[in-house]
Amino acid sequence: MDAPAQLILIATYRCNLACSHCPVARSSKALPSIIARKAVIHYLRFFRPNPARIKICGGEPFLNFTLVKDIVRTALSNTTSCEFTISTNGTLIDKNVFSYLQKHPEIEIWYSPHPAEGMRPVRSLSKLPNTGINLLISPKNVVRVSEEFLKYLNEGYTGFNFLPEYFTRWNDAQVRILKYEFTILSEMIKKLAGRGLRIRIKNLTSSGSTPLFNDGVVIDHNGDVFQNNMILSKHFFYLKDQLKIGNIEHPSKVRWEQKIKYADIFKHSMDKRTYSSTQIVDKALSDFVNLLH
Ligand code: SF4
Repeated sequence: MDAPAQLILIATYRCNLACSHCPVARSSKALPSIIARKAVIHYLRFFRPNPARIKICGGEPFLNFTLVKDIVRTALSNTTSCEFTISTNGTLIDKNVFSYLQKHPEIEIWYSPHPAEGMRPVRSLSKLPNTGINLLISPKNVVRVSEEFLKYLNEGYTGFNFLPEYFTRWNDAQVRILKYEFTILSEMIKKLAGRGLRIRIKNLTSSGSTPLFNDGVVIDHNGDVFQNNMILSKHFFYLKDQLKIGNIEHPSKVRWEQKIKYADIFKHSMDKRTYSSTQIVDKALSDFVNLLH
């Protein structure tokens, strides 16, 4: 069977922040190490991915640093190479976590800055060996996107993942500004590349069946297996029973070959206007990506 792109571990539904735009169905549920280890070993032995890719998401994954280290250690003891991705709000990256990440360039950190400056990490995460910014674009900050891009570039970040806010209603004027800002950004990025500055745009290499979420072997906090991590969202949480394909405690019973039309589920699980708005901003993002190819 084809190797799935990546293993996605939902480390926790907890977060130390409470962003107004947060799509996560936040709760105290968290992934125990024993289930995480089983999932990692099964993913590596059963799928033999090359390269192996493990995404650790939440909530805020660094609320359980021991789990993060356990996942990395388990993977690296069972395969010669593995790439890790962790999305974080950065606020819990203290001296200890920072020094660990400096020694593990195979862990890609995607830092999502909180809109309020006072909720930002004290350490400059741009000094980590493998890091980038998740730049959230909302109807409120859309006029400042290129400005924010330059600000983070000046702080030393050279990796960017542009994330227009989904599940919200954008009016026509806001969409026009978004498209305009994307045009400006693409010109800036090309010019900077022409001058030899290598800027990594994550959007160029990420694709999936739904906006925002990712396809892969998704392991929930209790070992339940899914094929897309949209189930961690408060918008789709209620669909878990319908979308579950098994539990990693019983891998031989997981319906790995089951085909679920996530794009259709995405469409039918929100009101028409919000879906249409989400599609429009997602199309603007795709056009931006095409300008960069
Ligand atoms: S940091 Fe992320 S997970 Fe935490 S509240 Fe904000 S958006 Fe949600």
